[in-house]
Amino acid sequence: DMKTRVLDGVAIAGEIKAEVAREVVAAREAGYTPGLAVVLVGDVPASQIYVRSKVKTCGELGIYSEMHTPDASVTTEELLELIASLNARDEIDGILIQLPLPKHVDTERLLEAVVPEKDVDGFHPINAGRLLSGAPDAQVLAPCTPAGIMEVLRRSDIPVSGKRAVVIGRSNIVGKPIAAMLINASATVTVCHSRTQGLAEIAREADILVAAIGRAGFVTPEMVKPGATLIDVGINRLTDAAEVEKFFPNNEARREGFLKRGSTVIGDIDPAAFALSGAYTPVPGGVGALTIAMLMSNTVKAAKMRRSGK
Ligand code: NDP
Repeated sequence: DMKTRVLDGVAIAGEIKAEVAREVVAAREAGYTPGLAVVLVGDVPASQIYVRSKVKTCGELGIYSEMHTPDASVTTEELLELIASLNARDEIDGILIQLPLPKHVDTERLLEAVVPEKDVDGFHPINAGRLLSGAPDAQVLAPCTPAGIMEVLRRSDIPVSGKRAVVIGRSNIVGKPIAAMLINASATVTVCHSRTQGLAEIAREADILVAAIGRAGFVTPEMVKPGATLIDVGINRLTDAAEVEKFFPNNEARREGFLKRGSTVIGDIDPAAFALSGAYTPVPGGVGALTIAMLMSNTVKAAKMRRSGK
């Protein structure tokens, strides 16, 4: 009889944060404090929540942080000036531009304006290129969510080398970089997206299935090889009671939470598929918990790399 393992993202994030806190102590003993600058444009509520928890986590780990909150009417030119000033400041090791930006702002130009050494989100083309080139881990600032997924696999002793991995989603933030990381870790990788034909059959070949789609419960039990590892990146909100009942039948805790808040969070994988898996990341409490921990880790890494001239 097969046992399913729940991969506890919160616990793994806790381990990583503890390691980062120790590195911050070592940095301070060496005479510097790693520092993160966060740029939050306008007042998108979700972005405000994310940024607040990033700044809070910096505080907990001893990382210096500062917030820049220009009004939504700010121009690309003004933002470029802000980035240039952060690029030039020695006490700033990481620069994070919270996305999405207002439509009139040239997001690509801004992301490229961050010096690659301070690009703790790993979105600069130089870092994306280094990742694709398979540069050693210590020399790349990789995007936080996929980097977190690799930590989950590594720290849970899930073998990757030689395994079949299928990634559903091809975004620059998740799908493409996790595919590159899995290739670098010697998996055999297939990437699916909205134009893929025969997606269910392809998914069913996966030893490791990564779902980064943005559709509630997209991955059904028929798409899963029994015993596979399921990595659920999706964060979706259910607001319809019938949907909650469909995905979480007879689940009292979910029903209560839904009644209290008017919504409940679900990933891109139907919970019924989790039951077939060998191991899976839950939503919430899986991959999502890792993203901020990896941002902290990247900030300390950026500080070390810049100071060692790498
Ligand atoms: P995007 O919307 O940028 O990309 C979604 C991808 O899914 C696209 O490549 C799209 O294909 C593909 N897709 C959409 N519909 C289908 C379909 N019916 N069949 C097959 N493929 C499909 O999303 P992100 O990558 O940014 O995020 C994905 C999910 O992960 C979201 O729920 C997001 O909230 C969550 N997320 C969570 C994070 C965290 O845990 N911290 C961080 C980032 C994201 P195509 O390219 O053809 O359009």
